[in-house]
Amino acid sequence: MIAEIIVDVQNSQVDKVFDYNIPSSFDFLKIGYRVVVPFGNRKIEGYIIGIKNSTDCPPDKLKSIISVCDEYPLILPEIVELIKFMKDKLYLRLIDGIRLAIPSQVKKSDYKFVSFVTLNDENLEDYLKTLNKRNQNIPKIIECLRQNGKVEVGFLNSKYGNANVKKLINSGILSIQKNKINRLKISDKSQNKVELTSLQKTCVKDILKSTDKPIVLYGVTGSGKTEVYMNVIDKVLSQGKTALMLVPEISLTPQMVRVFSDRFGTSIAVLHSALSVGEKHDEWLRIYSNDAKIVIGARSAIFAPLSNIGVIIIDEEHDSSYLSDSNPRYFTQDIAVFRAKYNKCPLVLGSATPSIETFYKTQTHEYNLTQMPVRVNQKPMPKIEIVDMCNEFRHGNNTILSLRLLEKLDETIKNNNQAILFINRRGFSSYLMCRECSYIPKCTECDANLVYHKDENVLKCHYCGKKFKVLTKCPQCGSNSIKLGATGTQQIVELIHEHFPKVSVFRLDNDSVKNKSSYSEILSKFGSTKPSILVGTQMVTKGHDFPKVTLVGIVDADISLFNYSYKANETTFQLVTQVSGRAGRSDQAGEVVLQTYVPKNPVYLTSANYDYKKFYDKEINLRETTKFPPFAKIVRVLLTSEDDNLVKNATHKLIIKLKDLRVNYGDKFFFLEAMKAPVNKIKNKHRYQVVLRFNNSIESEVIQKIYDVLDNLKNNKLSVFVELNPNSLS
Ligand code: ADP
Ligand code: ZN
Ligand code: ZN
Repeated sequence: MIAEIIVDVQNSQVDKVFDYNIPSSFDFLKIGYRVVVPFGNRKIEGYIIGIKNSTDCPPDKLKSIISVCDEYPLILPEIVELIKFMKDKLYLRLIDGIRLAIPSQVKKSDYKFVSFVTLNDENLEDYLKTLNKRNQNIPKIIECLRQNGKVEVGFLNSKYGNANVKKLINSGILSIQKNKINRLKISDKSQNKVELTSLQKTCVKDILKSTDKPIVLYGVTGSGKTEVYMNVIDKVLSQGKTALMLVPEISLTPQMVRVFSDRFGTSIAVLHSALSVGEKHDEWLRIYSNDAKIVIGARSAIFAPLSNIGVIIIDEEHDSSYLSDSNPRYFTQDIAVFRAKYNKCPLVLGSATPSIETFYKTQTHEYNLTQMPVRVNQKPMPKIEIVDMCNEFRHGNNTILSLRLLEKLDETIKNNNQAILFINRRGFSSYLMCRECSYIPKCTECDANLVYHKDENVLKCHYCGKKFKVLTKCPQCGSNSIKLGATGTQQIVELIHEHFPKVSVFRLDNDSVKNKSSYSEILSKFGSTKPSILVGTQMVTKGHDFPKVTLVGIVDADISLFNYSYKANETTFQLVTQVSGRAGRSDQAGEVVLQTYVPKNPVYLTSANYDYKKFYDKEINLRETTKFPPFAKIVRVLLTSEDDNLVKNATHKLIIKLKDLRVNYGDKFFFLEAMKAPVNKIKNKHRYQVVLRFNNSIESEVIQKIYDVLDNLKNNKLSVFVELNPNSLS
């Protein structure tokens, strides 16, 4: 037999499948096994992704597999199919697919787990008859298992010989199970179920029915989506299937894991980046060996080696963390759609603010839709009050906290409640703004806000690359108060101390959160201190369920609105809704103070009314007329190198070829430009980018062309990174 093998060569451009002979001693090999093969004059690891009877490779060239690395195939057949799909449809290399599917921790041989075997009674009698009577060890092994049920492989190996144990495993008499020793401790279940509301029941029903296409669960914050997920998982488990649930890394809080472990106990496995190497390894094996029936994890958990999946859930589906921002790049939803189809199971995309592109698919009936438009028990949504910061400035308050917000903070403290103040620091692009009239300089060509580049001291358009002089005087009202708009958490904490010297203030941002324990320490201290104020970045916006939080202050919503991405409106709407959703989750009503320099902006007006549909209608119209996703594809090719000339030339060659291509496609091509990347240089690497925007219908031709050109430009000193509909262009 012949094996089709992907070889694992570090940093190589080789991404071909090679044929190797399977020696008869390895005839148990199946798709997914990791093996060692000769490659050139080296021996390297590879993965079997196909098995066939014959090969076109001439017999004198055909080499044989040297050895087998593991006792079982590392990659499930489903994942092998997925890897092929990712190559064909998502333009990923096969070897990147393999690396995503098998975390490096699993490959290392510092196995801290223990393998156990159990006895398979079927065929046992027949098998015993075929045995050589002189080998006394095999009957002893079988006797040992009959008495003990489950025995450690290491014990059997040392007592009866590795060869004998292996022989029994290979002939199917013994089944191997991994990892009963688990480094990550998960407590057992303790919680009773609550009675679902009728809305929740309908959603559960809709979800379970939706095995033909993905289903969007649109439910406002506090509508009880988590409870819906848990009920769906219950149903799926009772059918003997498994469940995969993804949440944004940032909301994979201990609090959230506790909710699930209280309900499902030790059958859950948790995958996230804060796990130690050993913990990750153990969790992977628990999933692989079917010990864990429910996987909860961040983005990369979509590759979990879970079989027989009964439901895949992506919570907060709009979250930007589902788009990986480094190589190999993938969009989690694409992978989830594949796996759901493969398993013929529902894929749930849950959100209070579905992404425009996802919601559009419910309107075109590519996806189903189920909704919970009100909070559990009809609790009101917190009232959002918009405060005009220009007005504050005109009245002499030039600090970043409005009088209204200070008043509300005072009230919260007097009532012995808690407040969360949110400072937006993600997408920290600095823009200039007039404090008097809220004028922001824009590109003359693109209707995009200009971004300040400190290194060159210019304003730049991130879409076309055009440069503009930095303004010192507002061209609209003549004021000199035209300043950079940006503040930090530290600054807010100090201001709060000045105004409320006695109240406890906690800070949650990248500087204060040094490791996984400090994150939960800060949150639990905040949770148990009343009154108190939590000041933080994106980390404060998601998932938290603190009953005493009655006030949320959005200090600088505009930073996200004035971001240069086509998703700026969408991201801002999502942000306002998410962070507001932290207020008034228990018996006391919640309130939100939203500070902005553009109080009439439709994004704020719709989000203050929790009117997602109205926002969506406006935004989808805008996308259609301006030809942005979902009505177009944006591709960004980022080229980087330490050699400025090299990367400049490569960029030049790429753009010339693409301009040729544009001629063929005429008006299906909306935009094509090469420019320096907004961040010109990172770690001494010069960065250039080519940005394209074109009609969906020519996606595969254009992307194929880009890859063809890039293949020819390939060079050890040049790295390229191709992104489809990127979150940002920095
Ligand atoms: P979401 O994820 O939609 O923001 P949650 O799932 O966090 O909402 O639910 C909000 C609150 O409502 C939680 O405290 C949850 O325990 C509670 N809850 C959810 N469903 C029910 C129910 N059927 N009956 C009573 N309380 C519920
Ligand atoms: Zn421009
Ligand atoms: Zn002005």
